[in-house]
Amino acid sequence: MPKLVTAVVPAAGQGTRLGSNTPKQFLTLGDRPLLAHSLQILASIETIQEIIIAIPDTDQEYCRKEVLQYLSTPKVIRLVPGGARRQDSVRHALDALTNQPDFVLIHDAARPFLTTDMLDRAIQVAIQIGASVVALPMPDTVKYVNGSGMIEHTVNREHLWLAQTPQVFRFDWLLKAHQWAHDQNLDVTDDAALVEQFGFPVSVVPGSSMNLKITRPEDLTLGEIIWKSRHKEHQDTAWSCRTTKQSNTVKT
Ligand code: C5P
Repeated sequence: MPKLVTAVVPAAGQGTRLGSNTPKQFLTLGDRPLLAHSLQILASIETIQEIIIAIPDTDQEYCRKEVLQYLSTPKVIRLVPGGARRQDSVRHALDALTNQPDFVLIHDAARPFLTTDMLDRAIQVAIQIGASVVALPMPDTVKYVNGSGMIEHTVNREHLWLAQTPQVFRFDWLLKAHQWAHDQNLDVTDDAALVEQFGFPVSVVPGSSMNLKITRPEDLTLGEIIWKSRHKEHQDTAWSCRTTKQSNTVKT
């Protein structure tokens, strides 16, 4: 039986590290707002039935007009108010669910370069294990630095991974972990941290360094480069398909 997946997109951050007055999810990347890129890929996945975006009330009208116009999908897309912390934004989305999906897939609005392959792998692993996180093995040497800027020691990176999104969870696990975090007043930066701490198994799925999170101004520059190279690849493929078709037409 195909599993039902609801996608939750936390998009209520202030983007203060980016130093822009425009919330980062609305900044233009390539030909459209940042947020429109991930929504388009999420909407293309067959098992994703519904997408819930957590976004401040004051930005919802703008989002409907300026972002959702780029999507042509029959899927349900709903907007819910964001919260003070990322985990509150996700919780608001979970509270707003009207159906009971098998899995919830969470993807940060600030990561526009997820791929369908990455999503398929994350969903497959979550179906097997119960929870999955797209992540990358730590590529650099890691230092533990004290408050005075002095290195205390070097951390063994053998078992260190950098967590990205998408992250996919059995719906009942995620709900329990969020409820528990709320009761215990826990403060975390991703949902996997709650599910792990609650005691459920979570598997990593190898991600990509291209799946960057737009956080600092230089990430936008890198993002433009990635977008251009992907866009060019897409155009080259479309061009080669067209020319193959034309030469086939001539032959027959
Ligand atoms: O701040 P950071 O870049 O880690 O945020 C990750 C994602 O969480 C972003 O897409 C951001 O919009 C979202 N977020 C949110 N609500 C908050 C803070 C962040 O939805 N209060």
